[in-house]
Amino acid sequence: MKKSINDINVKGKRVLVRCDFNVPLQEGKITDENRITAALPTIKKLLADGGRLILCSHLGKPKGPDPAATLAPVAERLSQHLGLTVKFHDCDCVVCDETLTLVDQLKNGEVMLLQNTRFRKEESKNEEAFSKDLASIADVYVNDAFGSAHRAHCSTVGVTQFVGETAVGYLMEKELKFLGDAVENPERPFVAILGGAKVSDKIPVINNLLGKVDKLIIGGGMAYTFFAAKGHGVGTSLLEADRIEFAKEMLQKAKEKGVELLLPVDTVVAQEFGKDAAHKTVASDSIEDDWMGLDIGEKTRELFTSALKDAKTVIWNGPMGVFEFPNFAKGTLALAQALAALDATTIIGGGDSAAAVNQLGYGDKMTHISTGGGASLEFLEGKKLPGVEAVQDK
Ligand code: AMP
Repeated sequence: MKKSINDINVKGKRVLVRCDFNVPLQEGKITDENRITAALPTIKKLLADGGRLILCSHLGKPKGPDPAATLAPVAERLSQHLGLTVKFHDCDCVVCDETLTLVDQLKNGEVMLLQNTRFRKEESKNEEAFSKDLASIADVYVNDAFGSAHRAHCSTVGVTQFVGETAVGYLMEKELKFLGDAVENPERPFVAILGGAKVSDKIPVINNLLGKVDKLIIGGGMAYTFFAAKGHGVGTSLLEADRIEFAKEMLQKAKEKGVELLLPVDTVVAQEFGKDAAHKTVASDSIEDDWMGLDIGEKTRELFTSALKDAKTVIWNGPMGVFEFPNFAKGTLALAQALAALDATTIIGGGDSAAAVNQLGYGDKMTHISTGGGASLEFLEGKKLPGVEAVQDK
């Protein structure tokens, strides 16, 4: 068990908190605040305990200082959410002599935010110089950035070598508990739903989950490679020819493990990829040459919904179709509705699946929506996350 913020005394201490403030921005405005609100419980707890907080995060993928990737809008929104001023230290070096002065001036229960950690080139290479700079302003380090825990960077891993005490925050704890319990100790039947664009992105997840679930439902663009593995034509649908062999192996593995692997029985096809493309529904083994599958069909919606009926734990990663276009969102919508109606633990992987469920209005009906796309996927692959491993045990 990792040490948590309930296990440490932060009164009067300088606490460096790695948050995940990698929020979407449009013309400098935050368009989705979920990651900010998800960080509030940890920040509030540490402030109430009398810590002197220094928050840090990356935002986007700048390769050095870049005004378009400033964390200034996050400081503003955080100040509003917390009802106090979050001092923003706008410095291209992220940590410099001036930072030390500002940190020294912080009183118990006060909070500041550093500039985007990726303004320092060392960050994503986990180089010692920046790790030491970060550690120089901290007595305690708290990692609450689940969405970045799969990356070994200075602010998620390197810094922990140079700070005396380390712990995970509430968000990290919650993510690890929900995803961990589901994968390691699920209430059964345990069903996984995988969709999204590519098989290649999900190979280790399919492989790992086939050893754990009772049923595996596959939809979305990746289903067509499985159709091909069964010998069906897929027209111009997404197809990864070099993964057909893998799909065959997985069909075989499911049989050997006694896992029910469900594929779409029908599919909505269009003649082009577009919002208003003319479309029709055909059986999965009857896709004509010039047609591409963009959603699961009605019979599949019924099949998948009834396969979920007795589930007690469900993990869902990846939409069932091109949910961004309403004409091809019905499959994803049907599954969101099916999950919302279940008396089960329902967990949504981050990224596109979380966006789909929220966009379709079912976010608050799920037990847990992960804040980390890549991180939750690596977790489901059975990998250890470096940002978690680096934190001290209890
Ligand atoms: P991923 O990031 O792998 O979870 O993929 C999510 C993306 O897959 C979304 O943008 C969907 O539009 C896309 N997607 C889902 N089904 C299909 C499909 N049948 N054809 C093309 N793209 C799809």
